[in-house]
Amino acid sequence: MSSSISERIVTIRSSLPTSVRLIAVSKQVSAQAIRSAYAAGIRDFAESRIQEAASKQAELQDLPDITWHFIGHLQANKAKKAIEQFPWIHSVDNLKLAQRLDQLAQQLGVSPQVCLQVKILPDPNKSGWSVPELLADLPTLNQYKNLQIQGLMTIPPSGLNDSEILSVFNLNRELAKEIQEQNWSEIKMQQLSMGMSGDYELAVQAGATMVRLGTILFGDRS
Ligand SMILES: *Cc1c(COP(=O)(O)O)cnc(C)c1O
Repeated sequence: MSSSISERIVTIRSSLPTSVRLIAVSKQVSAQAIRSAYAAGIRDFAESRIQEAASKQAELQDLPDITWHFIGHLQANKAKKAIEQFPWIHSVDNLKLAQRLDQLAQQLGVSPQVCLQVKILPDPNKSGWSVPELLADLPTLNQYKNLQIQGLMTIPPSGLNDSEILSVFNLNRELAKEIQEQNWSEIKMQQLSMGMSGDYELAVQAGATMVRLGTILFGDRS
């Protein structure tokens, strides 16, 4: 890509509805490149590894108004660090992890905002709830009062065509609506975290409120 990070950010930001939150996925991206994105107006950054994030966060402490989002698969032994470092966790992908995060949040006196990661279609390569599993776990999730459950995150399986991807995103929106209509006291469904560099336009079409963009902003990670 010949354009600069800031040019790409301006172009993509202006192509998105203002209500959509643009989250820059900075995994494998240098602190310097994060600074460029920050200078272009980005305040939401996402990382998928705790360790890698920690060193960049330390380097970027002079930028206090960054909101950090965790989007990777989270192992139980990293849950405490995740809560300490990230006010947002998009990748809460099973009940046991949710329970652990709730306990830790209580101990630490914080209330992280989280999305529940759901597999709209079966996908052996990803973690996350299946739809029936998620619906069955809602009564338990509703007891986790230290988590602010804000919505659903989904990633379509690879190999789908555009109309199949769009239907995955639409089904995710409908699932969130169905859950919202059950009126849980502790489960909000206002956020749909969906859309990456290759499919964010479809996600926005389907009602995404947060898109997670890496490659298209920062270039290939390789
Ligand atoms: C890497 C990653 C992204 C960003 O992917 P790009 O294709 O580079 O935009 C978004 N979401 C998750 C969960 C990721 O792991």
